Amino acid sequence: MTVVALPRRTPAASAAPLPPDHLERVWAWGGADSVMSWVWRPSTVDGIRDVLALAASRGLSVGLRGAGRSYGDAALNAEEVCLDLSRMTRVLDWNPHTGVIRVEPGVTIRQLWQYVLEDGWWPPVVTGTMTITMGGAAGMNVHGKNAWKLGPLGDHLRAVELLLASGEVVRCSREERPDLFHAAVGGFGMLGCFTSLELQLERVHSGLIEVEVVPARSLAEMLAIFDERLETADYLVGWIDGFAGGEALGRGLVHAAYHLPPGEDRCAAQTLRPEHQELPPTLFGVLPKSAMWMLMRPLTNDPGVRLVNAARYRVGARHGRVRYRQPHVAFHFLLDYVPDWKRAYGPGGLIQFQAFVPAAAGHATYGEILARSQRAGLVPYLGVLKRHRPDPFWMTHGLDGWSLAMDFRVTRANRERLWQHCSALAREVTATGGRLYYAKDSTLAPDDLGDFYGEERVRRFLALKREVDPEGCWQTQLWRRLFAGL
Ligand SMILES: Cc1cc2nc3c(=O)[nH]c(=O)nc-3n(C[C@H](O)[C@H](O)[C@H](O)COP(=O)(O)OP(=O)(O)OC[C@H]3O[C@@H](n4cnc5c(N)ncnc54)[C@H](O)[C@@H]3O)c2cc1C
Repeated sequence: MTVVALPRRTPAASAAPLPPDHLERVWAWGGADSVMSWVWRPSTVDGIRDVLALAASRGLSVGLRGAGRSYGDAALNAEEVCLDLSRMTRVLDWNPHTGVIRVEPGVTIRQLWQYVLEDGWWPPVVTGTMTITMGGAAGMNVHGKNAWKLGPLGDHLRAVELLLASGEVVRCSREERPDLFHAAVGGFGMLGCFTSLELQLERVHSGLIEVEVVPARSLAEMLAIFDERLETADYLVGWIDGFAGGEALGRGLVHAAYHLPPGEDRCAAQTLRPEHQELPPTLFGVLPKSAMWMLMRPLTNDPGVRLVNAARYRVGARHGRVRYRQPHVAFHFLLDYVPDWKRAYGPGGLIQFQAFVPAAAGHATYGEILARSQRAGLVPYLGVLKRHRPDPFWMTHGLDGWSLAMDFRVTRANRERLWQHCSALAREVTATGGRLYYAKDSTLAPDDLGDFYGEERVRRFLALKREVDPEGCWQTQLWRRLFAGL
């Protein structure tokens, strides 16, 4: 395998220390990892340039961070500089007739939908949480429950402005610097910092969406339910009960959702108002949501999750196929219903492993992954199935196939075994021609990645990194974990 030698900035021994009041503990979202970094939160492009100059003067690398919602170490940069963009939250341009919006990188999905919904627009791609920033979303080229239909976020970005390590800002699109555009979107912050993003939004005619819930008795049935709806549904997502075995392996519930056509919602002006969307502050009208994670904590262990999953499946199966309407926010951001739910996992936190495999390999590979996890006693507490399509971005995780995202609880006792387990799963995935996703990764080692480094698109990416970042300014823990040895 021939790869380019990669640049690596190293701390200058003689440089003055950075101010100690900028030193902070920075966490991986899943809580299984944290580092100390010198953190800056500039609010302007010039402010970003100042941080770059400061880091360069000390020989330190810079790790970009949005809302820090990547599960693992993709936005961590231990003992070097963390450039946090979460204060750059301005909407720079908005055209309610065309649905084209230009925003700063710290604007979150929540801020975005709140800004545009009343004009009849919705972000074309949203993730399971609305707390992520647009810069971080483009950095990972995130996907939603409509990934097979509308592709990842990058497919809807019209242009971005990218601040390079030199301080120069370059406009990139499909026409201008298309190489940088297709490499930086999904380039996990390794080529430059997005300082603005121009996005085409999606027209909606109601603040409500029609949801269909369909129980699936097995993995085969779940894949079939998806396949039957690929032409008609706008969104598809499957919840999988990781504890179910035997004939019921891979059982769960599929949620399909359909946009309402124009005129269907006679109260559209009301349902499109942000007030109609907001998630309620209490559950069942009494229980403050902020306390929910504490109630979940005693059940977040193998017997507890087995019980809760079985109950959830049984209730769904008893109801059979049901249809109802609900606000977009309630459908898309179920995980935001319970603030801080990850704390229910306890002090070790959680990691997620998301396996992307070609369509034909879905049944066999996921069947094996679930059975193998059960045999190892490392059962995912949450399993989420999605369907995807290929896209033109160089470091993409997208493919014509499926993804299964699995949340694993981390404890002091299981940590080493869990990492080995995920490593074995990764090899199974890459053997099918499948892919893994940096936003969800904590465990990958270079050896788990099969032919990845030999792929033409990866070689081009590394060569471009060398060209636009010759000193290795942009780095993260994830970058060093997977690429430092090249
Ligand atoms: C509960 C939950 C549900 C999720 N659901 C989904 C899902 O459905 N689909 C999906 O695809 N992902 C999902 N994710 C993952 C999440 O969407 C991604 O990790 C996303 O990148 C997080 O955005 P962020 O703003 O927190 O960025 P961070 O995690 O802070 O950073 C992400 C990456 O982008 C880089 N970056 C940050 N800002 C910039 C910038 N301005 N310019 C260039 N690079 C930058 C960082 O260096 C890092 O590599 C989920 C995460 C959580 C916690």
